[in-house]
Amino acid sequence: MYVDSTQNRVGDDLDFANTVSWHDSSEKSQELLTSYEKLVNWSLHANILTKQQSLSLLKKAENQPSKAEEVLQQAIELREAIFQIFSLVSNDETPASKDLSIFNEALANAYGMMRIVPGENKFSLEFLNGEERLDGMLPPIVQSAIDILTSEKELSRVKKCEGYPCGWLFFDTSRNRSRRWCSMADCGNRAKAKRFYHNKK
Ligand SMILES: [Zn+2]
Repeated sequence: MYVDSTQNRVGDDLDFANTVSWHDSSEKSQELLTSYEKLVNWSLHANILTKQQSLSLLKKAENQPSKAEEVLQQAIELREAIFQIFSLVSNDETPASKDLSIFNEALANAYGMMRIVPGENKFSLEFLNGEERLDGMLPPIVQSAIDILTSEKELSRVKKCEGYPCGWLFFDTSRNRSRRWCSMADCGNRAKAKRFYHNKK
C-alpha cells in the first residue's frame, strides 16, 4: 500500500498546521486533533488515506490504544513544529532550531517508510503506508511540508492570517500578494468591524 507523493500531494494549503483553532493564543487555542480517530479522519479528508485504509487503521488502533495515543502525540508535536516553522518563515524570520530538529526527526522516520520505485519514464517516491502502520499518515504530511520548504516560489507565498489570535496559515495566491486574512467572511470582517468601531470613537 502506498501513496505516491507526486499524485497525492497533501497540499498547497498548509491544512495540517491549521488543525487548531485560535492557534496564536495559548489561552484561547483549541486542539482539533483530540483523538487518534480525529487524526485518521483528518487524513481521510485530506486524501492522505483512502476510506479502506482509514477503517483498517482505526480497527488496528482499537487493539493498540497506547501505540495509537503515541502516534497522536507524535503528530501533534510535528504539527506544532510545522506551525512554528511556517509562522516564522511567513514573517521573514529564521525558524527555531528546536522546531527544525523535531521536523528533521520526523523526516528521518518518514524517509524510513519510503521507497524509490521504477516507473515508465522516471522513478517515483512511494510511501509504504495504509494498513501497515498506525503512523502511515505522517510521511505524506512531512513530504508536503518539504515540498513547500524547498520551493522558493511556494515558500514566499506562505502567510499567516492577521486576525490575531487566529493563526491560520495560508498560501497567498492573489496576483499582488495582498491577501491578509484567512477569509474575508471571518477574520477580514472582524477586522473591518473593529476598524469601524475605533473610527467612530
Ligand atoms: Zn483568520
